[in-house]
Amino acid sequence: MNTIEKGKKYVMNTYNRFPIALDHGEGMYVYDENGKKYLDFLGGIAVNSLGHAHPALAENIANQAKKLIHCSNLYWTAPMANLAEKLVKESELDRVFFCNSGAESIEAALKLARKFGNRTGRQEIIAMLHSFHGRTFGAVTATGQTHYHEGFGDMLPHIKYAVFNNIESIKSTITKNTCAVIMEPVQGEGGIHPANIDFLKAVRRLCDEKNIMLIFDEVQCGCGRLGTYFAYQTFGVTPDALCMAKGIAGGIPMGAMMAKQAFADCFNPGDHASTFGGNPMAASCGNVVFDILKNGVLENVAENGKYLTEKLNALKSKYDVIKDVRGIGYMQGIELDMPVSGIISAAIENGLLLANAGANVVRFVPALIAEKKHIDEATEILDKVLSSL
Ligand SMILES: *Cc1c(COP(=O)(O)O)cnc(C)c1O
Repeated sequence: MNTIEKGKKYVMNTYNRFPIALDHGEGMYVYDENGKKYLDFLGGIAVNSLGHAHPALAENIANQAKKLIHCSNLYWTAPMANLAEKLVKESELDRVFFCNSGAESIEAALKLARKFGNRTGRQEIIAMLHSFHGRTFGAVTATGQTHYHEGFGDMLPHIKYAVFNNIESIKSTITKNTCAVIMEPVQGEGGIHPANIDFLKAVRRLCDEKNIMLIFDEVQCGCGRLGTYFAYQTFGVTPDALCMAKGIAGGIPMGAMMAKQAFADCFNPGDHASTFGGNPMAASCGNVVFDILKNGVLENVAENGKYLTEKLNALKSKYDVIKDVRGIGYMQGIELDMPVSGIISAAIENGLLLANAGANVVRFVPALIAEKKHIDEATEILDKVLSSL
């Protein structure tokens, strides 16, 4: 059996995978088992922030493996303490909880919100329609798309939904029982929809007035993807807590939930935990990624993100099927007036890896090291695919 046949026989059937088996990569490119080369504009779904086989990251993994991979959270390690310091000093938040994935960072935030609300007898959390927060029960309940809920019975109670970018909807959904509001500053899986700055400011004011904890899910849009290390810095609106994962450690599984001191104080020893969370392997990779991003890569995203927008707008003027170009930095999408699955398959055949975000949106979330020449190459391939429709 080859890799694809073996996978289909033994791996649980939770993904519709494309019929290619990837073997290795370098920078912006990956190669399959047959040696075919692909330009990677999916970046492991917004995870491989430094591209593939980045020398500094690979070297760090080898060195750290020879020192200490894991030692439990009963002890301190320098990689964990150093990464926490970097994240706190870079942000307006004060404390970090480390975990291993996006969903786990959301669960941590939901539990912190409940603990905060418990002080005043509140436990309702308001999430946005068309949001995506992950697949564990709390995170999937907060996900405002019913098709993720179907067939799983009762969801977590006390979660309500409001319309994203609509302050009146949030106002009318808040009750005396509301303790938190959670949203993505740029909705990812829901179709690449950035928040309006005025909306975020109004939500911030409302939460301050009513003593409600504001949580930003930056799992996809954070860690440099918008051209600032934290997504909220692009909007100038600071949340009380935020969730990170995907790109934080360049592909080594890691998540983090940060909070301002007053909220972080709601957790006491024993309230929440994670066996692998912040282990020295993942944390050392988080440090390497953070340092490299701060050393010129964020500027690259801010500058060339605009170039990507220009190139996508040029395609929009050429092809009527493209209805909209949306997004910021290296988190962008084009909305078509039809399902995009055929386009994505055709792009793969032509050596370009892309993903969808909802049925009609093609998503561009390349590694943050992508340069103008890669954007040129990607948009040329896409142009060819669109012209053959
Ligand atoms: C991917 C994603 C998650 C879930 O992350 P996992 O690591 O898959 O659990 C949560 N929120 C957002 C915005 C995401 O894009």
